[in-house]
Amino acid sequence: MSAHPVAAGRVLPTLNEDGSRNWIRPRVSPGPWWRRRQVIAYVLMFVFFAIPHVRIMGKPAFLMSFPKREFTLMGYTFLPTDTLLFMLLLASGVIGIFLLTALFGRVWCGWACPQTVYLEFLFRPIERLLEGGYVGSRKLDREKKFWGGRRILKYAIYAVLSLFLAHTFLAYFVGTEELAVWVRQSPWEHPKSFMVMAITTIAIWYNFTYFREQTCLIACPYGRWQSVLLDKQSVIVAYDYNRGEPRGHQNASSTASAGDCIDCKACVTTCPTGIDIRDGLQMECVHCTQCIDACDSIMDKVGKPRGLIRYSSQEALAGKPRKLLRPRVVLYPLALSLSLGALLFAMASKESADVTVLRGMGAPFVEEANGQIANQIRIKIANRGNSEARYTINVDGARSGRVIAPENPLVVQGGTTRETSIFVVMPRDAFENGERAISVNVKDGARFSNSIPWRLQGPSAASGNNGSATGSATGSAGTNSAAPAEGRP
Ligand code: SF4
Ligand code: SF4
Repeated sequence: MSAHPVAAGRVLPTLNEDGSRNWIRPRVSPGPWWRRRQVIAYVLMFVFFAIPHVRIMGKPAFLMSFPKREFTLMGYTFLPTDTLLFMLLLASGVIGIFLLTALFGRVWCGWACPQTVYLEFLFRPIERLLEGGYVGSRKLDREKKFWGGRRILKYAIYAVLSLFLAHTFLAYFVGTEELAVWVRQSPWEHPKSFMVMAITTIAIWYNFTYFREQTCLIACPYGRWQSVLLDKQSVIVAYDYNRGEPRGHQNASSTASAGDCIDCKACVTTCPTGIDIRDGLQMECVHCTQCIDACDSIMDKVGKPRGLIRYSSQEALAGKPRKLLRPRVVLYPLALSLSLGALLFAMASKESADVTVLRGMGAPFVEEANGQIANQIRIKIANRGNSEARYTINVDGARSGRVIAPENPLVVQGGTTRETSIFVVMPRDAFENGERAISVNVKDGARFSNSIPWRLQGPSAASGNNGSATGSATGSAGTNSAAPAEGRP
């Protein structure tokens, strides 16, 4: 008797009815679709390994740097101030996926998702080689030899591959230069980075060794979205029910009315998610096309035309005509064009630098011994260009006082952000109602100029006390004659 309580019916292909794991060991069906996917998978693997090393205009082709709070894509760096741009980029990506799914079903899942690509074309082939293919793996499962000799070797090879994949994956987030430092240093010199790498490696190993297809079945939300993303005209991998049924083994007693499906279950044993495509469109189907190849080879053997399982649509299978113009196919491209158009326009209108002005920390102003009022202003400059720039800082509206700038001009390397503080010292009587309007001007020769209106804080005539307001401003264009800032070594 089973040690597990028995559920009424199977809830997941990877679970037996008693809740124990049903290991899916799909039998490869090496037909034309498999070969096409193989080519695409190995090209994608190469692209995945190469991208962190590719530089465009001196910048990484892709780098999502959390410590620097920057995202670089194809040589363009999105800064923390680029919320709108980033949202438009994300929106374009999501709408693109919606459009792709509406047109071609789960083509991403079956052909390009890293989970499918690495599991089916890297990890499972090694397993088949070491364990003797479908038959050998199932024999080891039946004998419950999860830690058998050949499997230990498989796990060791998986660990090496996972380490390599983890390094490549993290290069997308820290960059290849930083990664090289991590690799060269001892773990004791950078324990946090070492822990990140170790956890990522273990997660990848666990995913491809144990969790496997359950990532698609349980963890990934995309399969659950497909019911709303697909329509009845979307291209899917589908079983031709009208042609196949009634199914049954072909023999001398078969009637002329029998369907083409001989119920050989080749489409089931080859399925990497363990489902039967003859049950209709299912959330678990990743559209990998393996059942097409399996069934086509059976049809060849029994002398029936190929395509009992094929790329089709629900309406085409029901004998309805193909409709090219459908609401989704019109609305998604329209939304995508708008989103991409807005993104490109916003990117083209961006200046070569972003300037953000903030009040100093603590009290908004300080009264000096001679009675003058000093305001600290923090200026953050993000250089969007690829080369070093020297930003000169001036202040308009402070002629009766002085401006102290510890570093002026401020040198900012290409693609980086720096912050400096200036101090504006004004006579007490320069303030009206506790405020004084000035402009902070930032200039880089003829390449960049920005003037930001700002209000200094000072004692109000009524109280003469320190205020407590805080605030910030981001650059906008303006023209004022500037009072130069004093340098301070
Ligand atoms: S049903 Fe067919 S296409 Fe869908 S996952 Fe299984 S083998 Fe792949
Ligand atoms: S492979 Fe084709 S013939 Fe065999 S069970 Fe599946 S659909 Fe039927």
